Amino acid sequence: MSGEVLADSLAEARRLIAEYERSVVPLEIATARAWWQANISGKDADFAAKEAAENRLNEALADHDRFARLKRLRQAELADPLVRRQIELLYLVHLEKQVDAELLRRMTSKSNAIEKQFNVYRAKVGDRAYTDSEVRKILRTSKDTTLRRRVWEASKGVGSAVIDDLKSLVFLRNQAARQLGFRNYHQMQLSLHEQDPADVLTLFDELDRLTREPFLKRKRQIDERLAERFGVPVDALRPWHYDDPFFQEPPAIYGTDLDAPFAKADIVAICRRFYRGIGLPIDDVLARSDLYEKPGKSPHAFCTDIDRAGDVRVLANIVPNEYWMGTMLHELGHAVYSSKYIPSTLPYVLRTESHILTTEGVAMMFERFSKSGEWLSEMGVPVSDVKAYSRAARAMRRDQLLIFSRWCQVMLRFEAAMYERPDQDLNRLWWDLVERYQGIHRPEGRNAPDFAAKIHIVSAPCYYHNYMMGELFACQLHAAIAREVFHNDRPSTLIYTRSPEVGRFMIQHVFAPGKRLPWNELTRFATGAPLNAKAFAAEFGQ
Ligand SMILES: [Zn+2]
Repeated sequence: MSGEVLADSLAEARRLIAEYERSVVPLEIATARAWWQANISGKDADFAAKEAAENRLNEALADHDRFARLKRLRQAELADPLVRRQIELLYLVHLEKQVDAELLRRMTSKSNAIEKQFNVYRAKVGDRAYTDSEVRKILRTSKDTTLRRRVWEASKGVGSAVIDDLKSLVFLRNQAARQLGFRNYHQMQLSLHEQDPADVLTLFDELDRLTREPFLKRKRQIDERLAERFGVPVDALRPWHYDDPFFQEPPAIYGTDLDAPFAKADIVAICRRFYRGIGLPIDDVLARSDLYEKPGKSPHAFCTDIDRAGDVRVLANIVPNEYWMGTMLHELGHAVYSSKYIPSTLPYVLRTESHILTTEGVAMMFERFSKSGEWLSEMGVPVSDVKAYSRAARAMRRDQLLIFSRWCQVMLRFEAAMYERPDQDLNRLWWDLVERYQGIHRPEGRNAPDFAAKIHIVSAPCYYHNYMMGELFACQLHAAIAREVFHNDRPSTLIYTRSPEVGRFMIQHVFAPGKRLPWNELTRFATGAPLNAKAFAAEFGQ
């Protein structure tokens, strides 16, 4: 291309970005505000307003003309790297919305229909119907193996109820992916988020290698405890003997009451002091946040950056226990990695986290401290037996992460294979993976679509690997901070409370690039190596 054409392309790219900021960004901000309002109030009118705002935004992103310009500009050799990066990101955001409107409508209606069936489904045993939380309670508390088995089987019944709809949805999703030039929906979901499916699989193979032995060793100990609890031999344990219906989490076997130190603790004040102590004060975020339970409000916890201009808020439902201590440290970790500390000199499109996995990682890294008795003591929270607390809490965290990592292996590999070949024997594939990665014995003779009982396959497809990669990022970043800031080569024991140099490190090495760097380049920039499983395995595996 001639110099003139290149200069023209650059000018055109700048014009397009300015147009986007003028016409689409206000819709994004309106959507974020409406989302906040609906989740705070729970009112139908607010949810209707949220949906209307989302529709207006989606319509704007579906703009074929702008997409055609983006497609052309993406091929041009734009000389300004910041402009080039913005065009690439805008291209991906618009690409996702280019699916034929009728097909999109059918996908949305199919997944809504399945989600509704999940909401109304009750596990029936005899003439008793169990809600999801009642199922979980039985699996947590009952010693009656026959009841556990029947409740577990009934809870999987939702899979058979939705399987035909799910198969149609998988077909439609693959059709949409092919419309946009991808081989299948799994490939598309990862590519839209700048992940190469083969690279992700290689990373998960490494994680499998490094965690298999420690996981199996720990699982043998857990199995011995459970066999004792139920009075059966270890090899008679089946999925219904575990507390969680999918064995995503460890059974409750830790003994120590982690909630005791928090009975009189002021969780918000602790967070305020901690983040100030590391040089990342968040007082203004707390002032704008909505932190306690009230009628109609969403029961979960979120952090949201409303306008990428410093209006960052947390929604929470704090009660004084360990879960909410960890959750608040987590959400405020998202809050510091936002327009609060990402430089305002970056253009809007780049003034956000590099990737969902990097912001999850930062949040997970700070969350770890609620499970350290030493950290709590330094923060002025009285713990009666610091060593016993840390021992129990660390064992719990190690088990949680090891067990969760094996579960993520199943989800990643299952969804990849399902979208690749939807007509294979999926019932069998699911249990093959569960046996191989989670070490759970399949129930003899069972042939049912148990994977379809996991709602995330419908509502958050091809997403679980991001949580796991977030954990890997958290461990790798924590190890880098230990090494670079504290000259400490045993990150698993490192705690800090009054160390503004941590904040300086985060600002320089993690927050400053915003979305200028793709996730793996940011990982290298912040930690000196591409994302890998070594730091995670050093803490929880080998
Ligand atoms: Zn999070």
